[in-house]
Amino acid sequence: MTISQAHKRYEFKRQLEEMRRKTGKGTELISLYIPHDKLISDVTAQLRAEHGQAANIKSKSTRTNVQSALESVLARLKYYQRPPESGFVIFCGTLELGGHRTTLDTMIIEPPEPITSYKYHCDSSFYLEPLENMLVEKKAFGLLAIDRREATVGLLRGKAIEVRKHLTSTVPGKQRKGGQSARRFQQLRLIAIHDFYKKIGNSASEIFLTIDHKDFEGVLIGGPSPTKEEFLDGEFLHHEIQKKIIGLFDIAYTDESGLYELVDAASDALQDLEVVKQKKIMQHFMRELVSDKGLVAYGDQQVRANLEMGAVDILLISEDMRQVRVTVSCQNCGYTGKETKECAADVSDVSDAFEENCPSCGSDLKIVDTIDVVDEWTGVCDQMGTRVEFISTDFEEGDQLMRAFGGVAAILRYDTGV
Ligand code: ZN
Repeated sequence: MTISQAHKRYEFKRQLEEMRRKTGKGTELISLYIPHDKLISDVTAQLRAEHGQAANIKSKSTRTNVQSALESVLARLKYYQRPPESGFVIFCGTLELGGHRTTLDTMIIEPPEPITSYKYHCDSSFYLEPLENMLVEKKAFGLLAIDRREATVGLLRGKAIEVRKHLTSTVPGKQRKGGQSARRFQQLRLIAIHDFYKKIGNSASEIFLTIDHKDFEGVLIGGPSPTKEEFLDGEFLHHEIQKKIIGLFDIAYTDESGLYELVDAASDALQDLEVVKQKKIMQHFMRELVSDKGLVAYGDQQVRANLEMGAVDILLISEDMRQVRVTVSCQNCGYTGKETKECAADVSDVSDAFEENCPSCGSDLKIVDTIDVVDEWTGVCDQMGTRVEFISTDFEEGDQLMRAFGGVAAILRYDTGV
């Protein structure tokens, strides 16, 4: 994953997190999914119809809120002649702010992937499922279900399984015909099996080599024992593909249904894969930390200094880190400075709670600029050729990154003495 992709994904994930927290009092929050090929005039017509029907809603506040939301969405739609390239989603409704306060808010999201179907949804929370599905990784795996009689080659992309090739063998059964010597029969049988494995290996390699390198996560092989073990040990796959084998899994079928069985059987292994990758990076960091060669940094200040020098090879950011960088200034003496602040939910919470005095004259300081720390960092990383890895807190070392190292750490290219 490139830096900007990882960053976009992170941004999108945060956006969804915020949307998930928003609630309305009644069934009055509108989610509107508009694909690229939908006519805006059709959408407008439906919303007008919904507006008319909303007159029947019994609760006066819900009725008013639904109608105002619809009006607000209709007003927004006037700015669009047609939907953008990937379509868009409009969320609108009267949101509860706590303490009986509410606000009518409209948010427009242009998703990272195309919206495929039109949807109008009205509920007490926003409908986010299609967007959340976009967060599912589009990784690709090679699938191979194999026994001595039959083999099926397929691909797993995201959650979709594609069958690509079905092969059958001419390997004779275990019963020999009369008149054949047992030894001769056994020899022929082994040759036939070997040939079949070779044929499978060539077909599968050819198919797997077409997978885009950056998406290709690995190969799963399923089948009865000892066939799959024999196939693995015989190295029948292209050497590049052979290196990508993730594991062998016991399955009963080797036709198309075998591929589904294989993905099921491997699900735990697949889930662990991403965690394993993150774990390895964290362990790399820990090893460097212990070896004390000055090749690591952690915490806001130390990481920042190294990052700006261009000394950071890999930047590790906890997915749970929520911080903003504020620029403060003193109206009285002209002092300005920058500070990093925790930011649990909304950026405005930081400025609302801000109360500090100028270090040189003691007057009240004011925030004049705010930027999400992750935005700031990934921007610097782009310039410095630094790799960014977002680390989840779902495993021990990842949790440590958040709790013990302030949510951010770096593996350095050289010791900077900072
Ligand atoms: Zn001052």
